Amino acid sequence: MKLVSGKEMLLEAKSNGFAVGAFSAHNAETVQAILLASAEQKAPVMIQIGQRVIRSIGMDAMVGLIHSLGRDLDAVVAIHLDHGSSFEQAMLAVQLGFQSVMYDGSHLPLDENIRITRQVADAAHALRISVEGEIGRIGGTEDDRTVSEEEAFLTDVSEAVYFSEQTGVDYLAVAVGTAHGLYKGEVKLHLNRLRQIAEQVDKPIVLHGGSGVPDALIHQAISAGVSKINVDTELRQAFALAAQRVWRDDPDEYHLAVVLGEARDAVKQKVAEKIRLFGQRGEE
Ligand SMILES: [Zn+2]
Repeated sequence: MKLVSGKEMLLEAKSNGFAVGAFSAHNAETVQAILLASAEQKAPVMIQIGQRVIRSIGMDAMVGLIHSLGRDLDAVVAIHLDHGSSFEQAMLAVQLGFQSVMYDGSHLPLDENIRITRQVADAAHALRISVEGEIGRIGGTEDDRTVSEEEAFLTDVSEAVYFSEQTGVDYLAVAVGTAHGLYKGEVKLHLNRLRQIAEQVDKPIVLHGGSGVPDALIHQAISAGVSKINVDTELRQAFALAAQRVWRDDPDEYHLAVVLGEARDAVKQKVAEKIRLFGQRGEE
């Protein structure tokens, strides 16, 4: 396994017109699935460690799993902290050898988001670790301007530029219509907004909520400037459906290696499918 800088990985994607998949890992089998898909597809991936798995297993245990399971594989990986909740948590990730950390202050007032994101970026950059920030969810009515309910949650172009300059982040997560989890209705992606942000910020743009976005929209988002796409729910769904299938066929199957093995293979397939969808081509 080769560990590479998050920034280098995404700049390479940006200049070659593809996006890197950032896949959330939740246990040994999902770590293994992502590593195997990266090795077999000869494509760089980000393995994301999110807040739930940090609470249930812990960051250091997950990093240990990635290192031990990846040792003999040809995977190319950046270990990434997803939705980092505090400066302290981001620094713990830095200390544990992550290649990329996100600090998510998007729920805070802009100044506060900028202040803490910049602290994270300054400290992480000193150790050559890449940083993702998030800006979006603009509140309802502002001065003389009333923005519609939906527009209110989209990232504002000039705020994105200001945030990017003030914080020095390496890549930027924006709100352009996608959401976490699976979609109930049709996904509406605000491609013009996305294109404007990508052009003016001129850094790799991150799309959260990649699960369930139709393939054609994913291609349009990448053309509009997205270089990192987060996928979590669809992987958990593949895992759960595979496990359910095993137990439906044989309710007395108590060998967890069998159940989890099927689940791992299903996740691996889903990751490989996304890698191809995101336009990554391995070296021949
Ligand atoms: Zn997210």
